[in-house]
Amino acid sequence: MLESSARVADPSVTAGPGSADKQAPFADPRQALREVFGHEAFRGLQSDAIETLLAGRDVLLVAPTGFGKSACYQIPALCRTGTAVVVSPLIALMADQVAQLREAGVAADMLNSALPDAERRAVLERLRGRRTRLLYVAPERLLMDGTLELLERCDVSLIAIDEAHCVSQWGHDFRPEYRRLSALTGWFPKVPRIAVTATADAQTRADILNQLQMPEARVLVGGFDRPNLRWNFAEKREPLRQLDRFLAARPEGSSGIVYVRSRKKAEQTAERLAGMGYAAEAYHAGLDAGLRAERQGRFLRDEGRVVVATIAFGMGIDKPDVRWVVHLDLPRSLEAWYQEVGRAGRDGLPSETLTLFGAQDVSFIRRMVRESDAPDEVKRIELLKLEQLVGLAEGVGCRRQGVLAYFGDSCDPCGNCDACLEPQQAMDGGAEAQKALSAVYRTGQVFGAAHIVDVLRGVESEKATRNRHQSLAVFGVGAETGEAEWRSILRQLTTRGLLEVDLEGHGGLRLGPAERVRPVLRGEAAVTLRRPTQPSRPAGRSRSRGPSAQAAELSSADTALFEALKAKRRELAETAGVPPYVVFHDRTLIEMAQLRPASRAAFAELPGVGRSKLDKYAESFLAVVASES
Ligand code: ADP
Ligand code: ZN
Repeated sequence: MLESSARVADPSVTAGPGSADKQAPFADPRQALREVFGHEAFRGLQSDAIETLLAGRDVLLVAPTGFGKSACYQIPALCRTGTAVVVSPLIALMADQVAQLREAGVAADMLNSALPDAERRAVLERLRGRRTRLLYVAPERLLMDGTLELLERCDVSLIAIDEAHCVSQWGHDFRPEYRRLSALTGWFPKVPRIAVTATADAQTRADILNQLQMPEARVLVGGFDRPNLRWNFAEKREPLRQLDRFLAARPEGSSGIVYVRSRKKAEQTAERLAGMGYAAEAYHAGLDAGLRAERQGRFLRDEGRVVVATIAFGMGIDKPDVRWVVHLDLPRSLEAWYQEVGRAGRDGLPSETLTLFGAQDVSFIRRMVRESDAPDEVKRIELLKLEQLVGLAEGVGCRRQGVLAYFGDSCDPCGNCDACLEPQQAMDGGAEAQKALSAVYRTGQVFGAAHIVDVLRGVESEKATRNRHQSLAVFGVGAETGEAEWRSILRQLTTRGLLEVDLEGHGGLRLGPAERVRPVLRGEAAVTLRRPTQPSRPAGRSRSRGPSAQAAELSSADTALFEALKAKRRELAETAGVPPYVVFHDRTLIEMAQLRPASRAAFAELPGVGRSKLDKYAESFLAVVASES
């Protein structure tokens, strides 16, 4: 039993006439979940988090994207009088959440630097009038004295800090302005706070509690499995062609994100994809705000769009129906990777990701870290974080087991990742490693992989002749192993730090640190490698079932209705000036197409249909169902 469910709504503080928020505080969180958001039950840790917060205690909630972290402060906000303050670093995310809340009939507002003056005054006016249930605010705006003083007089019900890992240098997206949020302790000593993030290892968690001055907070961690995501990794060979093959296998109309390392590459890749017939656009911090908003708007609104984004830029994309994510360049850590692939399939429908990794990527990131001005301790941790991701990519075991283990959890082999679907074999690569390392060393540590492979295989090339490599003892010692296999072995040795790519030179290979290399050359250290396989089949192709993830669940008659419902949704969304998913998620339309509700009461039973949406949309959609049946 929730402590708060005994509380009775306090009518004296409810919104006055003309207010946008018609609801008195809910006495029961489940009722709020049902009536406002149309969901039947809380998921896992949600009720723990909500219960704890409503009991007045601070919470740190670490749960993955798509878990439903926002409900953990939105529901308590609906169960309390006063205004809940939500600190959010990204304007796009803020705008999206506010739109969704308003659509659900909740009086939500936001304050940030992008707001025109007149609108800001209106927001402040509603705040003073106690008419705001949830206020989303950027950290720098919140910390202005004016804002804090105003809020102090406003009966703040709770404070939520979104993307809380931004407060920590150990996290992967440190934002200095987040540090100043510790001031909230002084301003609102009695107000319970909840910090939420999708990614924080133990060290980052401890740092968040410390930085935000919430030592007594209840720490809730979990829900890291994303069973609807199918994770694929592949060696980077011909990235654009690999991407093209992956995209060709996607269901029609599915939207996705391609991540690349640099702005320039984002532009180039988007251009190439557009040339190949994809509706692709680049999206990065170097674009002016107007263009960025325009592109983001298209991505949110239209089907079948591709956004090519830089890894470093947090896109702030809350689009629930991103069906796939491809990394053309490797992120810097397992956490960053997890967060980025996590942008796929927030609606719980099947989605697929592909991560390409190559030796150059790994060497490049290592060098960036080594050459940064960060303190040695930070560098050490960053290199370790990279190794964890490389370990996942190069490993032969179930990816999900690897990911969950990283987050301190476990599971059985999942049957829904590339390693489970196409098991890879491990091999003892000690002898191969010795041959390859010797070849690199004997040829002077200046030649690229192509020539090293030639030397190992005994190919009498012009280069070999010119450099008299035929006379070396290593020449031809690996003749029995194929070219592609040797390439893969060299890459694996590089990602394991036994070889390094000279990025200044022309991609020449040299030996890694002596303390790593020597034991291998002496045969004292085992080298386990993934048995190289020929690239027989592009990731995802033969496994993609049916023309569409949605159609896979729907009969052809249902699909026709689903399309008609989508058209109606598009029309309503356009009129309201919001993305289609703000009206209804695909999940709701899919069930609508299957269950074909014939009455308001049946419509109200659909997932994602709360009171406000029932009033607003039941009639329009029921008419479509009736006309198609
Ligand atoms: P997060 O912030 O953790 O990434 P969101 O708060 O955006 O996740 O929620 C992800 C999706 O899950 C949303 O579409 C939301 O409506 C849905 N959701 C949240 N809680 C529940 C629940 N208890 N039952 C069903 N769906 C839920
Ligand atoms: Zn698996």
